[in-house]
Amino acid sequence: MSYIEPAPIKDKENPLESMMHRFDKAVQLLGISEEMYHILKTPRKQVIVGLPVTMDNGEIKTFEGYRVIHSTILGPSKGGIRFDPGVNLDEVRALAAWMTWKCAVVDIPYGGAKGGIACNPRQMSAGEVERLMRAYTTAMLDVFGPDQDIPAPDMGTGQREMAWLMDEYSKSKGMTVQAVVTGKPLVLGGSLGRTEATGRGVTVSALAGMDKLRLNPYKATAAVQGFGNVGSFAASLLHERGVSIQAISDISGAYYNDGGIDIEAAIAYRDSNNGTLEGFAGAERIGGDELFSLPVDVLVPAAKEDVITLKNASSIQARMIVEGANGPTSAKADDIINEKGIMVVPDILANAGGVTVSYFEWVQNRIGYKWTLERINRRSDRIMKDAFNKVYQVSQQYQVSLRIAAYIVAIDKVASTYKYRGGF
Ligand code: GLU
Repeated sequence: MSYIEPAPIKDKENPLESMMHRFDKAVQLLGISEEMYHILKTPRKQVIVGLPVTMDNGEIKTFEGYRVIHSTILGPSKGGIRFDPGVNLDEVRALAAWMTWKCAVVDIPYGGAKGGIACNPRQMSAGEVERLMRAYTTAMLDVFGPDQDIPAPDMGTGQREMAWLMDEYSKSKGMTVQAVVTGKPLVLGGSLGRTEATGRGVTVSALAGMDKLRLNPYKATAAVQGFGNVGSFAASLLHERGVSIQAISDISGAYYNDGGIDIEAAIAYRDSNNGTLEGFAGAERIGGDELFSLPVDVLVPAAKEDVITLKNASSIQARMIVEGANGPTSAKADDIINEKGIMVVPDILANAGGVTVSYFEWVQNRIGYKWTLERINRRSDRIMKDAFNKVYQVSQQYQVSLRIAAYIVAIDKVASTYKYRGGF
């Protein structure tokens, strides 16, 4: 299709180029019209705000904050807020589009959005982070809303930040508005199961993939990159299902034990050690990049974008990659991985458990009733399994990777909804 200018594929491409590359491929297979291509590709709204914040030393520092609403075709837009020094508009735009496809793949009634602030929360006091979060919320009062745009945590943010956001938003409305944000603390209307939801969804999709590869979890081994909210729960739940976790990593480095790491001990160690695995004695220290080339069955990148690239893709020995992070594999690495016959359960499917339970949190806030953990887990597991099966079936039908199949499922859903609605 001549109107698609192929996104240049550099290795270390930016996440927006990576996303567009897969999007273009799926659009071509679906035979989407030029009009629809532009509708689906163009973000609805992109907001950039300057946020002056008084730091503890009395100085005023100005941060730049973003919120990109990629799509509202399926419903109010949904997506996290990232606090990281590397945040920029291109990254937020890619992450917002990923949210649109992610919500569509698991068939929940949301569009996609993402927000972010270029800052280093690790070097800021709690008071500084609070003032920044409140300033950001105030700047976004017209954007956020339970029927409009519903934020959630992402890298560098968590329950604490969501509580400040809810409070600041509620103050401006003169009433408590729980459903404006998800990922809140339980006492503020958070949902049971939300914290571990992404890791749980990663586990459900890993097990579904293992089943297709006829890999017995009790005989399988895995390496998990990233030991935060996604990686540590995924490691722990996979371990619970019989998988031997031979390697884990975080910003302090990577840790390997071919006899299997005691994940509960690693989590306890991290929690008692300022949140890092530095000095963890239950495994041998290895180089961060070595983790990707270990002879394990399952590789779970669960930290950030672009960690599997041309540099390390050919050394991967795993039979299966389950993307806990958003965009961990560069588009150029896709080809090498496909040629090697490695199954990839893509981000927009594998890590959708988080937004699924966010949806449950929003539903509970709106009906004013709390569901049990058992109900939440049962429903989110079902959604994840159904989504996996649907994507798998489309991958067989079109003879494409699970990644392109996931995009096909998502784009088809959004495009056909748009056709019914017309004009929105
Ligand atoms: N930030 C998470 C993601 O990338 C969760 C988004 C949400 O719950 O809205 O999927």
